[in-house]
Amino acid sequence: NAKEAGKGKYMVFRSSFLTKFNERVSVEKYLREAIKGNQFVLYYQPQVSLKTGQIVGFESLIRWNSPEFGFVSPISFIKIAEDSRLIVPIGEWVLSQSCTFARSLHDLGHGDYKISVNISVVQLIQEEFVDMVLRILHDTALNPAYLELEITESVFIESFEIVIPKLEFLKSLGIQIALDDFGTGYSSLGYLKQMPITTLKVDRTFIEEVPDQQDHHSLARAIVLIGRRMGLMVVAEGVETKQQLKHVKRAKCDVIQGYFISQPLKEEEVIRLVQTHQVYEM
Ligand code: C2E
Ligand code: MG
Ligand code: MG
Ligand code: MG
Repeated sequence: NAKEAGKGKYMVFRSSFLTKFNERVSVEKYLREAIKGNQFVLYYQPQVSLKTGQIVGFESLIRWNSPEFGFVSPISFIKIAEDSRLIVPIGEWVLSQSCTFARSLHDLGHGDYKISVNISVVQLIQEEFVDMVLRILHDTALNPAYLELEITESVFIESFEIVIPKLEFLKSLGIQIALDDFGTGYSSLGYLKQMPITTLKVDRTFIEEVPDQQDHHSLARAIVLIGRRMGLMVVAEGVETKQQLKHVKRAKCDVIQGYFISQPLKEEEVIRLVQTHQVYEM
């Protein structure tokens, strides 16, 4: 229900949503209203250094607070937003809001938190994408070193030539580029070398506890090793248990993110959290 949803956890479709939203057209209509009516909200999930136990940054994750359908997970609407290109204004709002929030954390005296923002390939191929990022950085006066753009492998498959130079330029400004959900896509390791990335996010399917499946563990370890060899920061996604923490520690990840540390949080909760200067036992 909406209350549980408020905690920023995974959301399940309510059946009314599915039936009413069967028509793509009507979803688009509601998404348009959502943009105009400010119905989106961002949650922020902490990322913690395995070495220091300290929070190093937050990933911003969108939710849709719909008056008709309650709290809606991004899994339920990002694809439709992409197909209708509504992800362009939505994504711009996400970036602007995230940079503004990061900047306000810095202004509170918490200067070293990075903000990670998910970027759709549909946004990246827009001619104005780079200018949009520059403008938001300028307007928020956020140091580019504290911004990370999360992209998926599909970016490179669909639009390699368009996207690579843009990412190279953004990276040259000090912006971090993370490859999200790594290991679930189709890109070959050969491609990986040509990608202007700074961070590898190991998909949580490799982190999940599979006690009898030793090969899963060795896969995770191999992925981490590749990332480290390439000089990338390696983030383990979806760490939920102590057991998984042990596993990613052994695999020598740099950073972990997941329910074991925290669910995605509201802005007020983030501010309260950073004010405690919490150090996690790793
Ligand atoms: P993602 O970027 O891979 O984000 C991680 C997802 O895993 C988030 O789901 C997060 O809440 C969830 N998660 C975090 N820790 C755990 C854990 O320990 N266990 C489990 N089972 N899940 C965990 P969420 O927030 O539902 O977002 C889903 C996806 O929607 C994201 O996957 C991302 O691809 C997309 N998304 C979210 N926000 C945005 C956005 O602003 N723009 C775009 N383009 N996509 C977004
Ligand atoms: Mg992500
Ligand atoms: Mg991911
Ligand atoms: Mg994902």
